[in-house]
Amino acid sequence: MAVIRGSSGDWEVVIGLEVHAQVISKAKLFSGAATDFGAEPNTQVSPIDAAFPGMLPVINRYCVEQAVKTGLGINAEINLVSVFDRKNYFYADLPAGYQISQYTRPIVGKGKIRLDLADGSTRDIGITRLHLEQDAGKSLHDQHATLTYVDLNRAGVALMEIVSEPDLRSAEEAGAYLRKLRSILRYLGTCDGNMEEGSLRCDCNVSVRRPGAPLGTRCEIKNVNSIRYVMQAIEHEARRQVELLEEGGAVEQETRLFDAGKGITRPMRSKEHAHDYRYFPDPDLLPLRLDANWVEALKRSLPELPDAKKARFIEQYRLSPDDAGVLVAEQASADYFEAVARGRDAKLAANWVMVELYGALNRLGLGIEGSPVSAAGLGELVDLVIDGTVSGRLAKEVFAAMIETGKGAAFLVEERGLKQVTDSGAIESAIAAVLAAQGDKVAEYRAGKEKLFGFFVGQVMKATQGKANPALLNELLRKKLAG
Ligand code: ADP
Ligand code: MG
Repeated sequence: MAVIRGSSGDWEVVIGLEVHAQVISKAKLFSGAATDFGAEPNTQVSPIDAAFPGMLPVINRYCVEQAVKTGLGINAEINLVSVFDRKNYFYADLPAGYQISQYTRPIVGKGKIRLDLADGSTRDIGITRLHLEQDAGKSLHDQHATLTYVDLNRAGVALMEIVSEPDLRSAEEAGAYLRKLRSILRYLGTCDGNMEEGSLRCDCNVSVRRPGAPLGTRCEIKNVNSIRYVMQAIEHEARRQVELLEEGGAVEQETRLFDAGKGITRPMRSKEHAHDYRYFPDPDLLPLRLDANWVEALKRSLPELPDAKKARFIEQYRLSPDDAGVLVAEQASADYFEAVARGRDAKLAANWVMVELYGALNRLGLGIEGSPVSAAGLGELVDLVIDGTVSGRLAKEVFAAMIETGKGAAFLVEERGLKQVTDSGAIESAIAAVLAAQGDKVAEYRAGKEKLFGFFVGQVMKATQGKANPALLNELLRKKLAG
């Protein structure tokens, strides 16, 4: 969808994303209340979160650390001085009547996120800023016929709002951006990235323009909660705008909602109804000052992140960018692969992890952490393939049995008699039996019908239950047929 072809010519789609990422932290941003997901309503609420009069917020140092780590992880400037502002609005799930956020002086400034595109190339997307803010509570409209209930467990939980430049050009790029951002957050341990539980939520700003023209008027689609929905919402919204413009209409700047059931966006509020939040610095909080040495120490403590790991996998293991990208998407898969690859043929290891292991885990609906076969277990099987104990084909059978029974590779090869036959005497006698039974075909082959060779290979394999060493079989068969 890089361009949309309209009846009057091409249109370019322009997208900027605002992501709310819930910070992993035991306590809230300005109170000591717990943050566990799924607790009984209103059991994790301090007087600060409930905005009792006279309560004072105290900044949670760990949440600040998480934001700084995230900033460093997206190659961004860390602002050693930042300011908390009050963003004023009225809503039932916001008892204070304002949200503590950051406006003109966020904790993290400009950065970038590298996209891995489908054709194997990469592209950097600008990050405008990352700021810290409180989450609001939750209004529950479905508990009672005429009443709305309020759950304040989420009120005051720390969020990082991560705003991108309008650099994205298609729904696919937006999807790739969110996958990469989520992967970085998970590597850093600063947000669990779980979109179903709402720990990662996305507002999509979408506009269209003639290629090269100034930016068009944008619409903002609020609170989309899966990558697939983000992509659908953008596709639909861009097409809606193109149709509107081609009919001679104009896009009005407004906030819209995505209806996942229908796959469309619809208006929520127009610019005239946009909030005036009357931001001002929170008088209860001092400007936040960071020690440059502390930031440096955090920088040194960061784990190897997906881009660096990918580059290393390409270099060290000679993997294709695609394969390396798949393996580094999750830290656990990358670690698993490296444990299998260590001291072995890395391409073979990558193949086993990505094809057989991922295939099996997919079928079982399991993540790599829940894999019934450990990296050491898979490594043992790969060793048996490399040293010729079991053929590549039968190794797949062994692997299926490992997944099913949890037993070790060597044990299963022995138990099921799957050892490769490398004894030339045994293979020769199988060949002799097959050729004797297929006299007509042998004659045809010798008369020049050479493609029958594959047929003989198949017959001998069958006679040895697939256990004959393929290279040896080929060699011996060729000799026999020639003689
Ligand atoms: P606001 O403060 O109203 O949310 P910003 O200017 O901060 O507005 O932009 C918010 C988001 O909208 C950013 O991610 C930015 O990249 C994106 N954006 C801004 N202009 C456009 C545009 N014309 N088309 C698409 N996205 C845009
Ligand atoms: Mg906005």
